[in-house]
Order: sequence, then structure tokens, then C-alpha cells
Amino acid sequence: MDSLQLAPQAQPNLRVGLGRVLIVEDEEIIRETVALGLAEEGFDILVAADGLTALDMLGGTSLSTRTNRPEIDLVVLDLMLPGMNGLDLCRLLRHQGIEVPILVLSAKGTETDRVVGLEIGADDYLPKPFGMRELVARCRALLRRHQGNPKAEQEKVLRFEDITLHPQECRIFLRGDEVSLSPKEFRIMELFMGQPRRVWSRDQIIDQVWGHDFMGDNKTVDVHIRWIREKLEVDPSHPHYLKTVRGFGYRLG
Ligand code: CA
Repeated sequence: MDSLQLAPQAQPNLRVGLGRVLIVEDEEIIRETVALGLAEEGFDILVAADGLTALDMLGGTSLSTRTNRPEIDLVVLDLMLPGMNGLDLCRLLRHQGIEVPILVLSAKGTETDRVVGLEIGADDYLPKPFGMRELVARCRALLRRHQGNPKAEQEKVLRFEDITLHPQECRIFLRGDEVSLSPKEFRIMELFMGQPRRVWSRDQIIDQVWGHDFMGDNKTVDVHIRWIREKLEVDPSHPHYLKTVRGFGYRLG
């Protein structure tokens, strides 16, 4: 488990890269994949295979010595761990006033687990399986938020089922994989995801996305919706996300 300890122990507070991330995960393959993926993006990486080791590294046990402990900027925490599980670790850290940002990973993708994770003090939650790019985007966003960047603080990530949209980064993910949309397609999705299940008429979509001075035909909307469906839907002719509401327009979900 020390093979990926990329941050030099001898200089625990030497700050390079984007920030230091502690990955707490007992499954070696996932741990190493996440470690390599984040290291490639410029994060310093520390790893722990169980909750107690992580607790010690974060200064949460009586054995922890603060002097030679590396600063940790972010914890990527699996919930299912041997010994102390992720929820208990998270709760204990917060109880001790350790406010390091925590991104919870879990195979338990249910709403209940997400809510419990966030209630006990995790900052974000990513269900497995996830894509590395989404994990990297979440890590960056959390670090920015905690490093007090006021712009990042305003970012509100929009979610609908397994679609995640980051308005300020102009990125959209489907089941963790980034989807490449044109700027207009992206704006349409941002509009829909801001108010899921609301029906938007073609004229409303034109006003919101193209602006009042748009001179073209509102069939343009249909063309863009078709392009988005081709990128997001499993079967674009029977859309699950972008539904046609006959006589009115379109809605998400
Ligand atoms: Ca696990």
C-alpha cells in the first residue's frame, strides 16, 4: 500500500501540485486506479487501505503526532471498509473538528446512502462505478470551494438521474463519462436540468438559449434536441431523458 505514497514523507508540508489527496479504499485495484488517475492530474497522493490508518493519518487518534503528519487537503473515502467503515470514520472526523473536505465513494448508489453520507459531514458523494474524469472534476471543485475561491463557491452542480452538469466548467457527464456537447446543446441541457420535468416550448427555449433577437426558425430547437438525444439517449427514437410533449414542447424526464 506504500507503493503509491507519492508525497515525500520527509517533507510533509512541501506543497506542490493541486493539493494532497488521501484515498481511503480497501480494494487495491480501485485504490491504485484512483491514485494514478489523480496523480496524473497533478494531485499529490496518499493512500490508506482501512479506516483506522486513515484516521491516524488525519490526526484523529491519540497516537497521531501532529509534527510529522502531512497536510491533507481532501479525502476520497470509500464507505465499505474493513474495521471502521467510511461513515463512522467521517462522523468521527467531524466530531473531532477535523474539517478536511471529504468525497465519499460508494457502490451503494441509493438516495438514502447519499443523504446519510452528506448528513454526517461528507461534502460530496460519487456512486460507483464512476469515471475518472468526473472524479477529477469533483476533486477540483471541492478543493477550490475549500480554498475559498468565491467563483467556485457559487458553482451549483446540476444533477438529473445519472446526468451531472457543471455549469461553470461547461462539462456534462453521463454515468460518470463526459459527453461532448456544442455550446448551444450544453445551454439547452443546463436549462432543462435547472428545472427537471418542466415543459419548455420551442419559443421559450429559443428565448433562453439563443436570445430574443434570434432570427431563425424555431425548428432549430428540434434539430438541437435531436443532436443531444443522439449523444445522451440509449435509443434516441425512444428518449428517456428529453421527452417530446406533443403540442407544447420538450421536457427532461
Ligand atoms: Ca471497499
